[in-house]
Amino acid sequence: MPVFEKEILIPQIKKFIDTNHYSSLNIKAVLIDMDGVLYDSMKNHARSWKMTADKYNIPSDENEFYLYEGQTGRYTINYLFERSFGRKASEAEIKEVYTQKTDFFTSLGQAPVMPGAKETLLSVTAHNLTPVLVTGSGQDSLLGKLDHNFPAIFNKSRMVTAKDVSIGKPDPEPYLMGLKKAGVSANEAIVIENAPLGVRSAVATGIFTIAVNTGPIDDNMLYNEGANIVLQSMKELSNRFDSIIKTFNLFK
Ligand code: MG
Repeated sequence: MPVFEKEILIPQIKKFIDTNHYSSLNIKAVLIDMDGVLYDSMKNHARSWKMTADKYNIPSDENEFYLYEGQTGRYTINYLFERSFGRKASEAEIKEVYTQKTDFFTSLGQAPVMPGAKETLLSVTAHNLTPVLVTGSGQDSLLGKLDHNFPAIFNKSRMVTAKDVSIGKPDPEPYLMGLKKAGVSANEAIVIENAPLGVRSAVATGIFTIAVNTGPIDDNMLYNEGANIVLQSMKELSNRFDSIIKTFNLFK
């Protein structure tokens, strides 16, 4: 057995089973985040947040926005206002600032598909696992875009978006809903996430969480939120995917 499976994956699976008091794992579904996982879109999100903060005279660092990925725009705006102006934003300000952020994001163009994302999704379906998208994004054009880039993988019944949830990540709510849509329990799924707050949401739901560190943050930020393993790219995940699923099948 290769070193990764023997020395990293198997010990992590055993620890995960113990921690969550599961008697077995029987992986039937894969819950997949979108930004920073299927699309290389986090650069544009961070850039457009930074442009927005500059416009409203809010001092910020472009890289800090990778840490807020997953939380709602409202939450991020209130946090920035409290930090810079010592008060929360008004409803009108939240609306204005978020509209500006969305406009800047749109002006940066369509983000490319993440290398390795398509191959990973094809492996998911080749193993007869149910893919479910779990994203904090709520764009109307989401399904069309996904269907264009990843044909016949997702449909409305296999998606949790900002429009389906009331709280969002890092609350467990979106991943709980993802399990429901997949029709499986927490010990029958794995999560693929790139953001610390997304990892927190998945871990709180009791799902084995594979973090893929596609941004500038330190691996420890993902481990500290409870990620069970951290990989360096979606390409690495797609290369390891078959072997990861075969390893999980030892714990059925
Ligand atoms: Mg993400």
